[in-house]
Amino acid sequence: MSTKDSDVVLEEMGGLDSESLVESICQHHLSNLGRDYGRSDKFSLYQALAYSLRDRLVGNWIKTQRSYYNRSAKSVYYLSLEFLVGKSLTSNAINLGIEKETEEALGKFGVTLEDAESAEVDAGLGNGGLGRLASCFLDSMATLGIPGYGYGIRYEYGIFKQAIENGEQVELPDDWLHSGNPWEFRRRGFVFTIGLYGREEKYTHDDGSLRHRWTDTAKVMAMPVDMLIPGYKNGNVINMRLWEAQPARRFNLDLFNSGDYIRSMEDAVKTETISKVLYPSDKLSEGRELRLVQQYFFVSATIQDMLRRFEKIKLDFSELPNRAVVHLNETHPAIAIPELMRILIDEHMLNWDQAWRICRRTFAYTNHTVMPEALEKWSLDMMRKVLPRHVSIIFEINRRFLEDVKNCFPGDEERLSRMSIIEEGEYPQVRMAWLAVVGSFTVNGVSTLHGELIKKNIFYDFVEMFPGRFTSVTNGITPRRWLKQCNIPLSELITEKIGKGWVTDLSRLHQLESLAEDEEFQNRWYDCRLKAKKKLVEYAQKEYGLYMPADWMYDVQVKRIHEYKRQVLNVLHAITLYCRLKKDPSSVAVPRVKIFAGKAAPGYFLAKRIIRLINSVGAVINSDSAVNHKLRIAFLPNYRVSQAEYIIPATDLSEQISLAGTEASGTGNMKFALNGALTIGTLDGANIEIMEEVGRENIFIFGMNADEVEKRKHEGYVSGDVVGGDSELAEALNLLADGTFSEGDRDFFAPILDSLFAEGDQYMTLADYRAYVDAQDALEQIWLDRKKWLKMSILNTAGSGHFSSDRAIMEYATSIWGVHPMEKES
Ligand SMILES: *Cc1c(COP(=O)(O)O)cnc(C)c1O
Repeated sequence: MSTKDSDVVLEEMGGLDSESLVESICQHHLSNLGRDYGRSDKFSLYQALAYSLRDRLVGNWIKTQRSYYNRSAKSVYYLSLEFLVGKSLTSNAINLGIEKETEEALGKFGVTLEDAESAEVDAGLGNGGLGRLASCFLDSMATLGIPGYGYGIRYEYGIFKQAIENGEQVELPDDWLHSGNPWEFRRRGFVFTIGLYGREEKYTHDDGSLRHRWTDTAKVMAMPVDMLIPGYKNGNVINMRLWEAQPARRFNLDLFNSGDYIRSMEDAVKTETISKVLYPSDKLSEGRELRLVQQYFFVSATIQDMLRRFEKIKLDFSELPNRAVVHLNETHPAIAIPELMRILIDEHMLNWDQAWRICRRTFAYTNHTVMPEALEKWSLDMMRKVLPRHVSIIFEINRRFLEDVKNCFPGDEERLSRMSIIEEGEYPQVRMAWLAVVGSFTVNGVSTLHGELIKKNIFYDFVEMFPGRFTSVTNGITPRRWLKQCNIPLSELITEKIGKGWVTDLSRLHQLESLAEDEEFQNRWYDCRLKAKKKLVEYAQKEYGLYMPADWMYDVQVKRIHEYKRQVLNVLHAITLYCRLKKDPSSVAVPRVKIFAGKAAPGYFLAKRIIRLINSVGAVINSDSAVNHKLRIAFLPNYRVSQAEYIIPATDLSEQISLAGTEASGTGNMKFALNGALTIGTLDGANIEIMEEVGRENIFIFGMNADEVEKRKHEGYVSGDVVGGDSELAEALNLLADGTFSEGDRDFFAPILDSLFAEGDQYMTLADYRAYVDAQDALEQIWLDRKKWLKMSILNTAGSGHFSSDRAIMEYATSIWGVHPMEKES
């Protein structure tokens, strides 16, 4: 059959009207679920609808992939160890442009789209911001028609499920695949072989040259599992290819024949562990062998897949950088640099200079943090065991690089040891960030401030050497999921006023500015916000049995639990309000519920103790009738994308209170502002740009800026010194120490108090306390002026257009990748 004939089939994978959808849903009950559609339930309807939508994506997916090939377009390979996808049902219906039809079709079975989606499990293949950014970027690449692919690992278990028992975090396995995943295509017949361990061997090639090869390796197979990512109403569907590890052979036949059946099976079990579980630490380098194996496994499979496509077009390898750009989301995939070198030199017999020229023009790297504990370093011994050939390539990269450094800065020995990719010492380490900088043509930070900070500190030496290599692209979020989908009333109101163009051109939200003081519009804005709050009330009640009155201020801090994000500062404010209320029940004018959510890395002791702190303070406050008419604390367990979609539209006050200079960008901050929350925040990450966009008078900025933090540290900050002059702070800290919130146990919060005193208050929580509490007091006055608050809320949404991931991806495409949106084929 010719392609032309099969295109008829491509067009016939299902109509977009509600009748066709009903028919498909019935058919999938029969053909895929083996069930009577007359006895459908939420779960079977979710599954059957998911299959029906996938049918409607796959034709466009094939056409999109073909068009890349036909036009030999330069493509982006976006490599990320994490994709925090969330649920796909509503998002795919919206991007297909058929949410109304879908709603109508489901109505025939007596359920809503929201009901059906409640049966879907989040794909939680990421820890937090970095993984969610990757998913927003794929949505925008598809929407803009940027040719590209997402590549990662199909973890069998994603980020752990968090339960709270006795106020404490308990981790449970995230068995997200237990009922199957209707969105994916598992391509069993299409696998790559991945080598591990073994040794490096020198040999003389037929042409007489001295060569290296990697031999005696253990073998694992990488099987592609594809998820289809549709653009918004444009017929583009891009591919997210996640690799699943498979044993090289189901049985080791030698062992099997010698009768050692169990050992042959054990081999299979070991290789399958590679894609078993996501490492649950955010911004903390792991250092475990299996993690290194995971990184190499997915990188090697991806580079092989890229070269397979490239070789089909039969061009010289020197053309590779004109056809592909490999983007490294953090250093997690940085082993791709020596891997491409190895393949070009050892397998395709290029010489070093040819191969290096190609690599240097192929890779681009995004740095996500400046904190030293997050900078990836691998033990040289471990890396040598797992990837002996790559280590020797890294040494050669380093040797040549240090030669260049010497030539640039003669006589500067210290610089050589600072810039070496290999950190010397008793336990030598490979500095992955240095490798990524040396091997990439562009290195970017993720906000303007972050881009400047990395040039001033961690990459200072490299900037002197490669001044043009460093830049920044401020992060963004997809307006489809983070406004249109999660906040239907507000997005309908916006569309009614300014038309629907904002969905793909978010800067149009500026048109709302002229309505900010319009009383009727403000009232409708208020109604939308109230609806979102009531929806959260219902959700919290149903899921967690928590009650929060919808007319209270919803003061929200939801994100990973981390010292630098300073949840403790927020708790100190809560305790201060508690103290004031205990003294005088009328002293607090604004009733508020402080909402927290977030996971702590299982091995991060202090973060877990902070969760306990929030819950313990909450338990005392919530049950004290002297204060709970004005103040409550809710900790919503198991923060994840789908929960964020309930919380964010309902938020009045967004807490973005990291120590200035520690949060690279943040993306939570953008989601809140877009939905009309006001921000209380420090001049950190993208908060600065939010301030510039929405206006200084429409955001509550407090505390030290990054320069002041530096200066204060330099002068010698002593946390104890600020307590003496602040009786409210002293009182709050006393209550932590005296057992008020720990059933009399005076030691329980000692680790937190130690971090604030004995260990020097690294994140300067106490230094910013007074400015923070004063800012909270001031914003309460504005809350009491409803019209003013609503005006500010509208102006926050109106000023959030800059934070679309469409804008971010266009910047990457034009200023880094050199790729262009595909014209629609006629
Ligand atoms: C957006 C998002 C994040 C990132 O939040 P920050 O406040 O930027 O740290 C983390 N987790 C989830 C589920 C998100 O949706």
